Amino acid sequence: MPKKNSDVNYSKLSPFELKNKLISLAQSVTDRGMLNAGRGNPNFLATIPRQGFFQFGLFALEESEMSFSFIPEGVGGYPLRHDLIERFSDFIRRNYDRPGVPFLGKALSYVRDQLGLDSNIFIQEMTNAILGCDYPTPDRMLSISEQIIKTYLVQEMGMRGISTNNFDLFAVEGGTAAIAYIFNSLKENKLIKTGDKIAIGAPIFTPYLEIPELNDYELVEVMVEADADNGWQYPEKELRKLEDPSIKAFFLVNPSNPPSVKIDDRSLDILSDIIKKHPDLIVLTDDVYGTFADNFRSLFSICPQNTILVYSFSKYFGATGWRLGVIALTKDNILDKKIAHLLAKEKAELNQRYSSLTLEPEKIKLIDRMVADSRAVGLNHTAGLSTPQQAQMVFFALFEMMDLQHHYKAMIKSLIRRRHAALYNHLDIPQPDDENSVDYYTLLDLEKISQQLYGKDFAQWIMKTQDPLDILFHIASETGIVLLPGKGFGVLHPSARASLANLYEYQYVAIGKAIRGLAEKYYQEYQKSKK
Ligand SMILES: *Cc1c(COP(=O)(O)O)cnc(C)c1O
Repeated sequence: MPKKNSDVNYSKLSPFELKNKLISLAQSVTDRGMLNAGRGNPNFLATIPRQGFFQFGLFALEESEMSFSFIPEGVGGYPLRHDLIERFSDFIRRNYDRPGVPFLGKALSYVRDQLGLDSNIFIQEMTNAILGCDYPTPDRMLSISEQIIKTYLVQEMGMRGISTNNFDLFAVEGGTAAIAYIFNSLKENKLIKTGDKIAIGAPIFTPYLEIPELNDYELVEVMVEADADNGWQYPEKELRKLEDPSIKAFFLVNPSNPPSVKIDDRSLDILSDIIKKHPDLIVLTDDVYGTFADNFRSLFSICPQNTILVYSFSKYFGATGWRLGVIALTKDNILDKKIAHLLAKEKAELNQRYSSLTLEPEKIKLIDRMVADSRAVGLNHTAGLSTPQQAQMVFFALFEMMDLQHHYKAMIKSLIRRRHAALYNHLDIPQPDDENSVDYYTLLDLEKISQQLYGKDFAQWIMKTQDPLDILFHIASETGIVLLPGKGFGVLHPSARASLANLYEYQYVAIGKAIRGLAEKYYQEYQKSKK
């Protein structure tokens, strides 16, 4: 059995970098499969909206070829707008037995009848988008696409009382780009400055801990700690830290990563009260797991004027390779007001920065500044998410909205929850159960599990004599299982994050059994040590 790790360097690495070391240990035994439960990448994906995408692509190509039909094969032109919708309906009829085509037919009537959008303009926008034959215009997001994704967010993020007319979207290359663009524009627009205090809801997806520390930002981090013993909710005392007027912003992942629980209603009420007392607090809520929660309600609907929303299509639709996400910001928000109230000298500097875009740069909204900043301002005219990506995003959203029985959602939820049950059943400890739990990840607490399996004394012995990171290395080399250390995510107590999205159910059975077996070995060593 390994003892305390003398090689302390590993503990400094981000869990996502450390995973390479864990993977090499897990692969060190040939002929034994590796079980990588470290990855958040789902192993399921939505097929129907993808079929729709490819079929629509074939339609768009027919249209393109038709418009240049006198020219030799292989050269198409811009699709003709005249009677496009008739030809689309004809395409649906001709190909109705092909996968994805009935979905497209229903999508057309949904957009027209349920969303009240102009179906002709919709088909035009999608045809050009999928061909990728124009720069993205408007650069922030294509118009009908923006309408559709807004409706999707209102539905999925539980935005009661928020009209799609009252907020804007910026379509971006996944949650990753959203986070990077937001930090950059907050800084460029002097909304957060070097040395500013920012609060972080912990534990959290590691970039939110790492980016503020970069020399680009040098922010002072105030941790708002969730309580492991109370279902990972934030105690009121922790939330009340946000009333401190010197705290400029609050970064939150909801539902959380890694504990994977949504903020409960009690905390939402407290946060709503805090915003009344600290009305210029900037809130960034990363809700990429919101689509997996029951009765989800985003902070965007609790304090819309304060909040920047990040949403990604990566996890729910199994679409990490597509790079699809959005940033949402209400039209009437405190961030634009803060910019309007900057010092004259600061405003002059910003007007200079954006002067190439318009004659009235002070009127540019923050969300449009983000678009410009994302392409170093000078390339604003070629900014924006690639148009085929926007088309796929629209098909994903329509697929979910048209699924009135929530068939896909029920399947995905039951898939990850069965894996959760399999893991805990074979680990031989009670399955944590909580109405706010999403179960995309689970946190395995070293001390708690040791205690549940063999009692308090054993748990104390483990904590005293074993290095938690060594245990993860040991799990990897002995069983081929990769789990990430909770510590890097800001979990205070030694723990491991297992993703429930990434492997098959029988593999979670194997993980439960293997960890159970290893615990048995530690227990034998513990008993020997007592003799
Ligand atoms: C996975 C994840 C992201 C990144 O999403 P992409 O859209 O794949 O870039 C962002 N935030 C959280 C909390 C995540 O778990």
